[in-house]
Amino acid sequence: MDKKILDTLKTYAKNSYSPYSKYKVVAMLFCGSGDVYMGVNVENASYSVTMCAERSALFSAVSNGERKFEGIIIYSPSKVMPYPCGACLQALSEFAGRDFMVTVANDREEISANFKEFFPRSFKL
Ligand SMILES: [Zn+2]
Repeated sequence: MDKKILDTLKTYAKNSYSPYSKYKVVAMLFCGSGDVYMGVNVENASYSVTMCAERSALFSAVSNGERKFEGIIIYSPSKVMPYPCGACLQALSEFAGRDFMVTVANDREEISANFKEFFPRSFKL
């Protein structure tokens, strides 16, 4: 991974609000416009309202008018790889085009694949 991107991910990891799990996650979402949106996981004492980093980034981008996306990097400084959860995959599937790439990384490992490999079938209306 590009050092500048990794440095940015590490910087944003400090913004993760994860006092309960201590599991910090950062998402970097690349838009068709060329803009990049960052998201972190935001936990809550009422666990079920916790928000993942991926959806934090996606919803921020969509709120700013973005509709086309090229890829997402999901990073955690933890030993546990931050694979996207089912809810985030479904949310991303609404906007993920054929070439949308997903990179999942921690400080030991990095995996990149097309979105369809992570989520081959999604719910669509
Ligand atoms: Zn998620």
